[in-house]
Amino acid sequence: MTDKGTLYIVSAPSGAGKTSLVAALVKKLPRLRISVSHTTRPRREGEVEGVNYHFTSREQFVRMIEEGRFLEHAEVFGNLYGTSADWVADTLRAGEDVILEIDWQGASQIRHLLPDAVSLFILPPCLKTLAERLRGRASDHDHVIEKRLAGAREEMSHYAEFDYLVVNDNFERALHEMASIVEADRLRTTRQAVRQAATLADLLSGTETQ
Ligand code: GDP
Ligand code: ADP
Ligand code: 5GP
Repeated sequence: MTDKGTLYIVSAPSGAGKTSLVAALVKKLPRLRISVSHTTRPRREGEVEGVNYHFTSREQFVRMIEEGRFLEHAEVFGNLYGTSADWVADTLRAGEDVILEIDWQGASQIRHLLPDAVSLFILPPCLKTLAERLRGRASDHDHVIEKRLAGAREEMSHYAEFDYLVVNDNFERALHEMASIVEADRLRTTRQAVRQAATLADLLSGTETQ
């Protein structure tokens, strides 16, 4: 892809705080858009169609897989989740950065497709806190919470595949660390050479202009 934007991948065990952190991150930084995934998971109270997810039937989701509409997709806790290929490509082409909140399986697929993607993994400070956050969110049935806690170790065992590791103990600190990662990445010479092309051309032209 000859995209102008950068793709960021954020993964974490369910309840570690990635949705809250990513929502705060896009408020803090310009030119960063969250990809809205498709899912077959039932909508939680308070979730809005097209904002949190595009909620779809399994039949519709399978049809979309067959039509090649997903950049990546995976089954997580018995539900299907997928990232819209067109939306991501269009947004990156327009020069905006895109952030994907996806599981480790999706992260692995994206890394193979787009090796330039930057990946972050969020850890909870400890298992007790993870359980408290999942229960405190009070948006899932008990058996769903237990399934998510049981899956946490499997998700976390993939931490070393990611470029950056953030521990979400103090929320503001974790948010600051995520913002620092994005801001440093945006200053990489390969990215700046594209963004500052006009400035560099001017500086290197040898002609003084006002
Ligand atoms: P929460 O992240 O704990 O609030 O729970 P969700 O039910 O929203 O998401 C469950 C899991 O699905 C998380 O691990 C997400 O990272 C993952 N997930 C969400 N959307 C996608 C997607 O489009 N693709 C993939 N592969 N995973 C997704
Ligand atoms: P995820 O998207 O990873 O499943 P959420 O963003 O839904 O996680 O966060 C899970 C719960 O934990 C939410 O109720 C959220 O408000 C809370 N939470 C997130 N980060 C922190 C933190 N640093 N300290 C305390 N509570 C947090
Ligand atoms: P939830 O249903 O609680 O919102 O999310 C459950 C899990 O699905 C989370 O761990 C989340 O990271 C993952 N997930 C959400 N969206 C995507 C996505 O687009 N792709 C992949 N691979 N995983 C996702």
